[in-house]
Amino acid sequence: RPIRAHEIRSRFLKYFADRDHAVVPSSSLVPANDPTLLFTNAGMVQFKDTFLGRDPRPYKRAVSVQRCLRAGGKHNDLDNVGFTERHHTLFEMLGNFSFGDYFKQDAIRWGWEFLTEELGIPADRLVVSVFSGEGESAPADDEAYELWTAHVPKDRIYRFPAKENFWAMGATGPCGPCSEIHIFHGDKAPPDAGVAGRGPAYEDTRYTELWNLVFMQYEKFDDGRLVPLPKPSIDTGAGLERLASVLEGVGSNYRTSLLTPLVDLAKRLAGAPAHDLGAGEAPFRVIADHARATAFLIADGVFPDRGDRPYVLRRIMRRAIRFGEKVGLEDLFFHEVCKKVVEEFGEAYPNLVERAATIDEVVRGEEESFRRTLKRGLRLFEGAVSELPAGETAFPLAVAAELYDTYGLPIDLTGILSREKGLTLDEEAVKQEVQARQSAGSAAANLGGGDKAIDNLYFRFKEKFAGAASFTGYSELS
Ligand code: ATP
Ligand code: MG
Ligand code: MG
Ligand code: MG
Repeated sequence: RPIRAHEIRSRFLKYFADRDHAVVPSSSLVPANDPTLLFTNAGMVQFKDTFLGRDPRPYKRAVSVQRCLRAGGKHNDLDNVGFTERHHTLFEMLGNFSFGDYFKQDAIRWGWEFLTEELGIPADRLVVSVFSGEGESAPADDEAYELWTAHVPKDRIYRFPAKENFWAMGATGPCGPCSEIHIFHGDKAPPDAGVAGRGPAYEDTRYTELWNLVFMQYEKFDDGRLVPLPKPSIDTGAGLERLASVLEGVGSNYRTSLLTPLVDLAKRLAGAPAHDLGAGEAPFRVIADHARATAFLIADGVFPDRGDRPYVLRRIMRRAIRFGEKVGLEDLFFHEVCKKVVEEFGEAYPNLVERAATIDEVVRGEEESFRRTLKRGLRLFEGAVSELPAGETAFPLAVAAELYDTYGLPIDLTGILSREKGLTLDEEAVKQEVQARQSAGSAAANLGGGDKAIDNLYFRFKEKFAGAASFTGYSELS
């Protein structure tokens, strides 16, 4: 019997619990006490201070299934969503952690054995990578290389530079080499596919990265010096959806039992044919992905609005609604998909169920207000396109800024619309234009569309989840 996706979580937790790891629940998508980080984007986020020795815990090993969001800040996969088989905004990261306890040998052995023995992934489909010693003053990770030779033939151990295989918490602080496990799903055996040193695992879509094992063994100082840590630590992360894609043999995260119910619902609502539409699946994948992010974010107390975190959510929602509009979803539909998220993920994430009514109300409110202005915004967009002088290939910046200010059309959406018309849009320049208007004190002060209905909703709910959505780190427009 094949292992189903929802089962992988408990298998993973049990596997590491059996190896003396404390099972730690997922933390919120809104990082606690960390103004430098927009959203939780990895399993290690809730352990950051533990790695630094500032937040001692009653355990030295931990295991978690962490909800993560990569839609803003350093990791931003938003533009990939719907167009690669492996990226989401919201996803679940499986991770095992050692705080100065076990190190490379156990991390490598358990990572390998979990995949090949516990999950039964064929070993001859897997390739691994180690740090080559290039791009960072640390030496090549020969230790990891040697340890991998116990499991993997040498021609399937690739060496990559720092860009891919060296991890750092920040400009200073804990850092170290990493090893990644990738799966090859092409026709031939993996060594054939790779030309030594070319780095096939990173550029070749026949490979999918499954698991990143980070060996935290140095501390980096201001002057760039790397000093070995007295107690090296382990931080790992594997994407649940990617493992599900492998185990279910479907070749795409979006065709797994995790995402399919959402994609199928979006298609049904739009009256689209049930069979695989190839590239035509993208809008439905975007809707499915964004509904997940939306439901999870609202459940964690983030509401669509102006401001850093709230505006990331608003962008995600408006992006989904606009993709819906494009495939003929003219009536409110997004709350239906979000409701399905609660049904599908409520067991693993009970806070979705607790906040189901809020999710429904907030999503309806945002969709109603956005649809009111979207129609007028699109008319303005079409008008501007038809008035372009012959041969013009760029969409006018001023109109894009106006669409953002007055119609609440996120700039990346105007970018998508422009590209659909074969036009370019310099999104950075639009941001600057908007900022210039704001500082000039023009009507543009009304960021993000600023809808009264949403404001009211927001304030009502903010009382319920006081504090959760505020963010004071840095300002991000788009
Ligand atoms: P990729 O190179 O595929 O973008 P990454 O190197 O950015 O992945 P890591 O930061 O190493 O990813 O995160 C650890 C693991 O989390 C990855 O090996 C992958 O399984 C999973 N993962 C990362 N980003 C995403 C995403 N956007 N959607 C789904 N899973 C992801
Ligand atoms: Mg990435
Ligand atoms: Mg990668
Ligand atoms: Mg990686």
